[in-house]
Amino acid sequence: MNTTGVKRLNDAEKLVMVRYGELFLKSDSVKHYFIGILLRNIGKALSASSLSHRYETPRGRILIYGDEPEKIADVVSRIFGIIDVSICVQTSTRLEDICSSAISLASTNLRGGMSFAIRVKRQQKTGLNSQELGKLIGSAVYDYIPGLRVDLDNPDYELFIEIRDFGGLVYDSRKAAPGGLPWGTQGKVLALLSSGIDSPVASWLMMKRGCEITHLHVDAGNWGGKDVTYAAIENHRRLSGWCAGNLLSLTIIRSENLFDTMELYRIPPRYRCVICKRFMLKLAAHMMQKEGALAVVTGENLGQVASQTLANLSVISETTGVPVLRPLITFDKEETVNLARIIGTFVSHPGDLSCRAVPKMPATAAVLEIVKQCEQKMEIDKVIADSLSHVRIIKALNGEIIKEI
Ligand code: ATP
Ligand code: MG
Repeated sequence: MNTTGVKRLNDAEKLVMVRYGELFLKSDSVKHYFIGILLRNIGKALSASSLSHRYETPRGRILIYGDEPEKIADVVSRIFGIIDVSICVQTSTRLEDICSSAISLASTNLRGGMSFAIRVKRQQKTGLNSQELGKLIGSAVYDYIPGLRVDLDNPDYELFIEIRDFGGLVYDSRKAAPGGLPWGTQGKVLALLSSGIDSPVASWLMMKRGCEITHLHVDAGNWGGKDVTYAAIENHRRLSGWCAGNLLSLTIIRSENLFDTMELYRIPPRYRCVICKRFMLKLAAHMMQKEGALAVVTGENLGQVASQTLANLSVISETTGVPVLRPLITFDKEETVNLARIIGTFVSHPGDLSCRAVPKMPATAAVLEIVKQCEQKMEIDKVIADSLSHVRIIKALNGEIIKEI
C-alpha cells in the first residue's frame, strides 16, 4: 500500500460521532420523534456552551461538525439518550484515504512494542469484507510504525473504522455518555430534593430515563441544620448541568410549621418521620398539578434507615393517590454514593445537615390508623395551606443558579 500521502491531522478534519442506544428498539415513527428531541437537546446544550456546530444524521449515528470537536464531545457526553461519542476523522470511501488517516491517527498514540487491532464495520455488503479490509488497513499501519504486534483479543490500542456510503470514519477512542432516553421524551416528574446524597441521584436517574424534572425542597427552618437549604440548592444547581440549555426549577416550601405543630400537639416522636414524609407527598401532590408533573420521585430506599421499612413506605405512599417512583429502592448505599460521585453531587463535607425532629427510635412499622389520627389532631390540611403560602422558586441553568422568584 502506498502511504506517502500520510498527513498531519487537524481539528478542521475532525467530527464528533454520536451513538445512541435504546432508540434502536423503537418503531420508525417513535425513533424519528425521539431522535428529533435528542437533536434538540444536543443543539441546546452546545449553544449553551457557545459552540457553533452543524449536524448530519446518517443511519444509526449523529455526526456533529464544529471548530472545537474536543469541547463538543465533552458537552455531548453528558446528554441522556447517548451511549458514547468518538472524535473521528472523516475520509472519502477510497481505501488509500482511509489508510492514510488510519496511519495518521495511529501515529499519535501507537508506538513500537505495542499490540494493536483494527476493527472495521462497513455499510456496503459487496466487495472486500470487514476482516479483509481490517487486514489491509492493519498491514498499512504495521508497515508504517516499526515494532508493532497484532493482537485481536487484548490489544494495547484499537483503531475503529466505519465505512459508510458517504465516506470513512476513523477513530480510536470512545467517550462514555450516560445512555438512557432523551430528556423530555417521558413526561414530567416532580422530584423531592433534599440536602442529602440519595435524592439527587434519584432525580438524575429519572432524567436519565427521559423525564423532564421539577424539584421540590421542604425547608424545615429552625428544625433543620444551618446548611440544609444551601446544600439542597447546590444539589439543584449541579443537576441542572445535566439538562444543559433547559431551565431547571426548584420550589422551596418553608414548613417549620409542621414540626412546631407536631411538638405542640405532642405527636409521638417515633411517628414524626413518617408524618413528615407523608406531609412532603401531600405538598408534592399540590405542586404536581401546578407543574403538570405525572409522578413524584424520592430517594427512598428499602431498609436504609428505620423510617424506610416496607411497612412505613406503604403508609407513606398511602397518603395521596399520586404515583411515587423510588428509583433507588434496591440500591446499596455504596452504589448510590458511587453514582453521586460520577454525577458530581457527592460532597464529602456538606456541613450541618441535621434534623432536630428525628427521634432516637423512629417507628419501623407505623400503624396507618394512628398516623391518620395524629394528622387529624394537628389539622394537617391547615399546616399544608400555611406552608403553601411560604414558597420561593429558584431557577438553575447549565450548572448555575440564575434567578430567584
Ligand atoms: P437523601 O435520602 O436524599 O440522602 P436524607 O437522607 O436527608 O436525604 P431521607 O430521610 O432519607 O432524607 O428522606 C427520604 C427522601 O425524602 C429523600 O431521598 C428525598 O427524596 C425526600 N426528602 C427528604 N428530606 C427532604 C426535604 N427536606 N425536602 C424535600 N424532599 C426531602
Ligand atoms: Mg436518605
